[in-house]
Amino acid sequence: MAKIAFIGLGTMGLPMAHNLIKGGHEVTGFDLQAAALEKHLSVGGKAAKSAAEAVKGAEFVFTMLPVGKHVKAVVDNCLETLSSSSLFIEMSTIHPFETDEIRSLLGKRGVRMIDAPVGRTSEHAYTGSLLIMAGGEKTNLEIAGPVLELLGDTIIDCGGPGMGSRMKIINNFLSNMINVATAEALTLAEAIGLDRNLAINLMSGTAAGKGHMATTYPNKVLKNDLSPAFMLDLAHKDQGLAVDLAKSVHVMTPMGTITKEVYELAQSRGLGKFDWTCVYAMMREQAGIKAPLGLPK
Ligand code: NAD
Repeated sequence: MAKIAFIGLGTMGLPMAHNLIKGGHEVTGFDLQAAALEKHLSVGGKAAKSAAEAVKGAEFVFTMLPVGKHVKAVVDNCLETLSSSSLFIEMSTIHPFETDEIRSLLGKRGVRMIDAPVGRTSEHAYTGSLLIMAGGEKTNLEIAGPVLELLGDTIIDCGGPGMGSRMKIINNFLSNMINVATAEALTLAEAIGLDRNLAINLMSGTAAGKGHMATTYPNKVLKNDLSPAFMLDLAHKDQGLAVDLAKSVHVMTPMGTITKEVYELAQSRGLGKFDWTCVYAMMREQAGIKAPLGLPK
């Protein structure tokens, strides 16, 4: 049994702390809201009057707070009482540079840290089946392993300190854009008379629903092969058809329009006859990432 401090007993933190209790640990919680602490007490947790008090003598210190400024406030509050033998496990979704700042603050006091934000939802927090994106020194990830396993069924070592925090942002970035693009496509589908379920079923089997990382990218741009399986000029033509169609039936298409513009940028750089996945190669080059992927000189 380990002594654990858990700061931030909200939608996610409360069930996560409960799973640690069910795993046989002594979990002292702290939250600014008295109601959250009451709930934590009711499932066998202990309550502290401050974060500084909660972390005293804790082997593991978890934070599950809304944004970076909350985590920084908690760290500031705890620096005096944190023991250098504690492992700080930061699980909130925060800016990766704030993660780095917090690691450095803790490091100055000799406290080790892993960043371990989570994927999935509060339902998975209840069932202990979160996706945990972990960043830290391998030895620290190993130490945290048994407690993280009580919270998630998939724990991915993202490749070093700060990389869990970075992976989480990238995952949500793409997921958010797919959310909006999906809403646009399904709205347009209905507006032009398609049966929505039919459209969903059909697109579940194409790049539209399966995603490009699972379909087009592996054999083309990721292999440094930009010979056209599907030419960017044709993708641009199709996107134009959809955007025009959407205008005529009053469907908003912000993602659709910007996508067409990105294809036009690629065309202006002479990439129209290349595979449509060349937009990835173009963006890498624009970002100054070394070893360009097959773009013409
Ligand atoms: P929440 O707002 O429900 O809970 C946050 C808790 O932190 C609240 O109870 C609040 O009182 C407490 N808090 C704030 N500042 C504090 C402080 N200084 N000291 C102590 N307690 C403090 O948020 P949530 O949904 O549990 O999300 C927490 C983090 O997890 C966020 O970064 C969120 O983006 C991320 N996340 C949420 C979900 C989700 O489905 N809700 C999924 C994945 C990741």
